[in-house]
Amino acid sequence: MLVRIQTHTDAAQLQELALLLQNQQIRMERCEGDPTLLLLSGDTWMLDAALLRALPFVVDVQRTESVCPLASRDRHRENTVISVGGAAFGRDFVIIAGPCAVESEEQIRAAARAVKQAGGQVLRGGAFKPRTSPYVFQGLGAKGIRLLVQAGREAGLPVVTEITDPSQLPLFDEVDILQVGARNMQNYELLRCLGKTDKPILLKRGLSATLTEFLLSAEYLLKEGNNRVILCERGIRTFETETRATLDVAAIPLLKKATHLPVIVDPSHAAGHAFLVPPLALASAAAGAGGLMVEMHPQPQNARSDAPQALSGEVLALLSRQVRAILPCLP
Ligand code: PEP
Ligand code: MN
Repeated sequence: MLVRIQTHTDAAQLQELALLLQNQQIRMERCEGDPTLLLLSGDTWMLDAALLRALPFVVDVQRTESVCPLASRDRHRENTVISVGGAAFGRDFVIIAGPCAVESEEQIRAAARAVKQAGGQVLRGGAFKPRTSPYVFQGLGAKGIRLLVQAGREAGLPVVTEITDPSQLPLFDEVDILQVGARNMQNYELLRCLGKTDKPILLKRGLSATLTEFLLSAEYLLKEGNNRVILCERGIRTFETETRATLDVAAIPLLKKATHLPVIVDPSHAAGHAFLVPPLALASAAAGAGGLMVEMHPQPQNARSDAPQALSGEVLALLSRQVRAILPCLP
């Protein structure tokens, strides 16, 4: 970290600052040849830059290190590879697909067959649904998880479903990947709890989260010891109303540059409309996404949640072929 100070800063003030930093295991040196520049080294990611900026003799503070030492590529150059069933996130392009919510045994079994047939590697299906309105379908809860796991095992697919509260954890024993939804990206108690498990976590970007905030949420999981974290860009809130969210395509290369964790994209919740899902999925693959999470339903028009964005099994199969056709052309 670099700190620019005023030319005539008092030696006593600097001494005081050096002491304060020393208490936080941070070394302070004056830059040779430029006495107004201080070099801070050590665990500087723990330091609040705003505190330094508030000092009367500080002109500017510049971070030269990541605030997420565990998620950052600075000290971990290689991609983290997370193997789930036959899929290796961070190495292979992984397609996760399935309904927004598990609705019935028949529905999730049909979805699982369609996902398998389309070449998907992971089955999704919400059981605890964080819906915006409390008056709409909230998911089948524990029963939904049982049906999802059963359908996944039958089709030979690992499963992912969302956890919304630490108290639900015992129900997720047979779930292969735990999803943290956009609304819970900053639920730090949930993150801390999941960080103590050994399950892969699919962490979705919050609706208004910056990439740094997104990575800091991943850092919570890593800090507790769980290094199997998959990041999922799912669109952010902007002024545009034609789409449900605005897919942040630039987030894909930016995240891949900043972190060693796998980065996938959910085009469905960004799009909000089925016809927009394939173009956003293809754009994501072209931008370097390591996989996709797509909502599909055996009968899209009858879906109990997010029907407008659900793909049919046929469209999912076509999309999957198109995505796999462009992958060999990418750098
Ligand atoms: C979901 O994937 O089921 C979901 C609710 O998405 P998000 O958390 O991104 O809104
Ligand atoms: Mn949904």
